[in-house]
This record gives sequence, structure tokens and C-alpha cells, in this order.
Amino acid sequence: MTRPPYLSDIPGFRKVYDASCFCGSVQYEIGAERPLDAKFCHCVTCQKLHGAPFQWSAIFAKPSIRFTSGAANLTYWTPHLRTQEYDLPCKVSCATCRAPLMDEGRNMVLVFPTLVRFGGEEERRRFYPSCHIFYERRCMDVPDGLPKYAGHKAESELVPERGGGGGGEGGEGGA
Ligand SMILES: [Zn+2]
Ligand SMILES: [Zn+2]
Repeated sequence: MTRPPYLSDIPGFRKVYDASCFCGSVQYEIGAERPLDAKFCHCVTCQKLHGAPFQWSAIFAKPSIRFTSGAANLTYWTPHLRTQEYDLPCKVSCATCRAPLMDEGRNMVLVFPTLVRFGGEEERRRFYPSCHIFYERRCMDVPDGLPKYAGHKAESELVPERGGGGGGEGGEGGA
């Protein structure tokens, strides 16, 4: 807990966004204008852990994130150990309301933009995904024109889009 994102004091850190869990006991800040990448993930793990048809995540380098409250009120799930013991990579949740907060890797964290307090639509759009991943496992079609990978981004086949207002695959559609 002596490294980002668990440090509250990071030299040169300049807050751009605030974020918090559902109950508010955990608060963190983002010190970058926009994520390195953002995705909608339709994998079964995300569906189960989020209780949602798919997950919206945004990737940041760890020093772009700092907890300002509740860093001692976190609970972990470490998939490769199948325990709550902290080891990387792991999934981080609020210990009170159990809201998923982030997936912590070795150098990056994957945060969930639905926890971020955006100042408006323009700010929210900076976090808009570049693609859908694990789209083959989807609960629903999302005809938004974004690239849709069967598995991991750029390492799997693209899945043709279907559904929506009768537009063809990859078509621009109406404005
Ligand atoms: Zn909470
Ligand atoms: Zn996933």
C-alpha cells in the first residue's frame, strides 16, 4: 500500500476528475485528462462481477490515480489465487457497499467510468470506448458502429455488427 494508486501524495499530481464508490466511503482522483484506452467488455467474468450485461472500463497508468479516502476500506479478489489475498493482478472493491472500483494490474489500473463525476457530456466523451471486446459472449447487440472483437482487442477476429436501424456492417448510418 506504499505505491500508487494507494498513495494520497504523489509529487506533481494534478486532479482532473473525482470518483467514488456507491456509498461514498471510498474516494479517488484521476490526474489525467483522458484514459490510455477505454473498452466495453462483454466477457462472462465482467457480466458476473458487475451484475450487468457488459462492463465499461478505462485504462490509466497507476500514478494517474490516487485514493483520497477509504484506501483502508478496500476488499480484493485475486483471480489467480481465488482468494481475497492481495496479489497482482486483482480486483478492488469497496468493503462497505461492495461496488467494484478497479482492476489493478502491475503497471496499469482499469477504472470504471460510471464511478467518475464528469462535468458534462464533453468530459464523459473523453472516456468513451474505442471498441467492444469479448463481443461473442454478449447478452445484447450494441449497434454503435465501434469495432467489435470476438476476444481481446486486436488479437481476435472482428464480429460483424447486426441489429439497430437496418444499417449495413460498419456503415455510417444517419447522423
Ligand atoms: Zn462504498
Ligand atoms: Zn471482461
